[in-house]
Amino acid sequence: MKRHLPTISELFDGIYNPEDYSLKRRRTFLLAAMLYIIATIGAILLVFNLFFDTVGSLVYIDLFLIAFSSGLLFLLRYKKTYNVVAYAMTATMFVIFVGLLWYDKAEKFTLIWSYFFVPFVFISLGASRGIRLSIPYLLIVFLLAYLGIGEWMGGVWDIPSFIRFFAAHIALLFVMYVIVHTNERAFSYIATLRAKEREQLKKFEKLSITDPLTGLYNRRRLEEVFPTVLSEANERNLKAAYFILDLDYFKPFNDTYGHQEGDRALVAVAHVFKRHTAHAFRIGGEEFSGLLVGKNDTEIHDAIQALHRDILALDIPNEAGIDGKLTASVGAHIVQPGETRYDTIYRTADAALYKAKQSGRNRIVYL
Ligand code: GH3
Ligand code: MG
Ligand code: MG
Repeated sequence: MKRHLPTISELFDGIYNPEDYSLKRRRTFLLAAMLYIIATIGAILLVFNLFFDTVGSLVYIDLFLIAFSSGLLFLLRYKKTYNVVAYAMTATMFVIFVGLLWYDKAEKFTLIWSYFFVPFVFISLGASRGIRLSIPYLLIVFLLAYLGIGEWMGGVWDIPSFIRFFAAHIALLFVMYVIVHTNERAFSYIATLRAKEREQLKKFEKLSITDPLTGLYNRRRLEEVFPTVLSEANERNLKAAYFILDLDYFKPFNDTYGHQEGDRALVAVAHVFKRHTAHAFRIGGEEFSGLLVGKNDTEIHDAIQALHRDILALDIPNEAGIDGKLTASVGAHIVQPGETRYDTIYRTADAALYKAKQSGRNRIVYL
């Protein structure tokens, strides 16, 4: 399970690590931080009110703050109910701050707490919910503060005080909106960029292992999957074979029919390859290779033979070829127990191919 709450040291050092850094994550972090702070303030005020203050009801508020913030931290930690916690905090702040203004009439600096509502809502619930929840709150607070003119602070609270109070809240609202809103936009921009980056990376990865003409995998991919295919075959008690296929008299084919026609023939051969094995590669100009897995040698012989036959069945004319047709020679090697190295297996198959060419082409030779 991923850790949901910041530790005390993270509260001072900042946020986890960059990979974890999301808007949601940061909000959870900040919400938790605020709950820690509220619990701490509650504890400090409790001590303070117990020893220095005579108003008994404040002690109950402190106790409530401690219990409430600890309860919400618990919820946040174990249930991951972020929105429930954020809304519960918002509602409680709303009631406490408005209630404090109503009953306390700005005595003993209690007015200061009313400033916490706006930043809290913006930080924990975002810019648009911040605006929607701050406005009703501020309307009530302003109304109370207006009605308190001549009454609050033993009558000292006057119109200029009210205007300062009003202006400071509006300024805070504006600042919070700008900060949180721009931040949200930046986050969503980064998220889009990241998604695009991931997509492009995938495309590049695919490009880097694909042959553009035929769509087969290239040699890089071959070297990547080679050990995996071998070990998988080994685990399943199957035989694996590696073979190289080279078109016969392809240079004269190009000379006779043109390079474009040559490309078309290569694509047709690639299609046949794909049909016969999932591990089909174009490793050179008119040179293909494949990996095949089968129960035994016979199954592999049959599979390679079928592929070779299907290439012949394409029935592509080649004036300079054998019987006027485009043919292919194959060099194959069935991997023996203990053989794992790509280069030695490749060399064996290549030697087999050389033999196939030497002995008349249009055939399959095993070594
Ligand atoms: P062999 O039977 O001995 O294999 O003779 P070959 O003519 O096929 O062999 P060689 O290696 O001399 O010629 C390979 C030719 O393949 C050379 C080149 O014209 C052609 N070739 C290589 N890559 C491509 C390609 O991407 N498109 C086309 N159209 N031709 C290609
Ligand atoms: Mg050739
Ligand atoms: Mg060749």
